[in-house]
Amino acid sequence: MQYNSTRNSDISISSAEAIKKGLADDGGLFVPKSFPEITISQIQKLADMSYRERAFEILSLFLTDFTKEELTDCINKAYTKEKFETDNIAPVYKLDDTSYILELWHGPTCAFKDMALQILPHLLTTSMKKTKENGEVVILVATSGDTGKAALEGFADVDGTRIIVFYPDNSVSEIQKLQMITQTGDNVCVSAVSGNFDDAQNGVKKIFTDEGYKNLLSGNNFKLSSANSINWGRLVPQIVYYFSAYCDMLAGDEIELGEKVNIVVPTGNFGNILAAYYAYKMGLPVNKFICASNKNSILTDFIKTGTYDRNRDFYTTISPSMDILISSNLERLLYDLSEGDVSCVKKWMRELSENGRYTVTEDVKNKISDLFYADFADDEETLAEIKDCYEKYGYVPDTHSAVALSVYKKYLSDKNDKSKTIIASTASPFKFNQSVLIALRGCAFVAGKDEFTLLEELNKISGMDIPKSLAELKTKIKIFDTVCDKDGMVQVVSDFLQIG
Ligand SMILES: *Cc1c(COP(=O)(O)O)cnc(C)c1O
Repeated sequence: MQYNSTRNSDISISSAEAIKKGLADDGGLFVPKSFPEITISQIQKLADMSYRERAFEILSLFLTDFTKEELTDCINKAYTKEKFETDNIAPVYKLDDTSYILELWHGPTCAFKDMALQILPHLLTTSMKKTKENGEVVILVATSGDTGKAALEGFADVDGTRIIVFYPDNSVSEIQKLQMITQTGDNVCVSAVSGNFDDAQNGVKKIFTDEGYKNLLSGNNFKLSSANSINWGRLVPQIVYYFSAYCDMLAGDEIELGEKVNIVVPTGNFGNILAAYYAYKMGLPVNKFICASNKNSILTDFIKTGTYDRNRDFYTTISPSMDILISSNLERLLYDLSEGDVSCVKKWMRELSENGRYTVTEDVKNKISDLFYADFADDEETLAEIKDCYEKYGYVPDTHSAVALSVYKKYLSDKNDKSKTIIASTASPFKFNQSVLIALRGCAFVAGKDEFTLLEELNKISGMDIPKSLAELKTKIKIFDTVCDKDGMVQVVSDFLQIG
């Protein structure tokens, strides 16, 4: 399997090279030149397998340059019972006869990014070896909250790697911030950026496209790479859990073989939902993708109108990991739906960076609306959904998952579609305990209580165990207190690497 850029289809590189590079030199994203197929009878076979075995079957179709031993080793290091506190890795919880919650937050940081970031460091170091690269890999991450900690957990003390994480000063939760600034490991660096997520992400993108700085790095034997969801090594492991959820439902007699399901995804950077779309392209029987946004509803508008327009207010919401105005992975969908028309993709991305907006062709717009439904839930609706779900089912979703549930309700009242539906649940409610408790008990209840008291209160109400990694934050030492502005990010990198 070879890969090219969404902005240049003449490139042809292996998966190891695509994973090592992260982003193509032309600014495009790496995509497979063709998609492997999974037949219905293969899906039936997957249903009898463990998560790790399913991961092997699917990943081996894309990472064809990895040996069986290499891939097995990566998978076995990533998806362990110790790290995920369950053998299922991504268990499905049945809410009612049509709604099935795919819990993607059993990993060490209690959010779905672990699903990819536990395996990425191993895919990356293996890719480095395979491509005979002996420099040290430097991971730069811009995070809206969850990616940062998940990347730090994945890369901490992995030989041959360094990791630097930038988070927006004013829009991550207290718990998310604590998780990051207490990170241990000899190869890690964490810094706040004054601004929002897009400021942090643009700063990182700038460093990636600065040829002079790249030369300085390579002169010091450092090789830049990205752990953001634009890296192919981030995206490809996410395809696995959609097959896995379908297989679990099949094995539990909840669906018939070949039955089409809907998939609801609380969406920010468009990585998670794109992985679901890729699963569909490979043969997973899907009826509709339901793209759920918070008040930053740029994707809702795009899917409804065909115009992507970032000239709008940015909102800080109670689902901060979805507070995004540029959904980078959308570029891969546009590439796919325009049948690999790189000149179109390039034009749209140029318009986006120059004018902040672009409009896709009628053909692409129609393909999107055939397959995707989109809507958003504001904070008020999100809080109401948490309460409603708890009262109806005794199940407590986090704020991001509640956005998905709320939008799914809108879809149902709009479309009267009885298809069984997988709802991606992207974080543990403990991670966003404050908002969750406000939803369940009101503002007065949380006022004056610290994070750790809130964890205990949520434990009492939900009957769920407090994740160990969150409970132990209480006694961890705060290590990082740097704050820079977006133009100071390069200096943070240089200082940490002791260059320039
Ligand atoms: C990152 C994240 C999302 C958004 O996922 P994308 O792949 O960026 O669309 C949703 N929920 C949580 C909890 C996240 O951490």
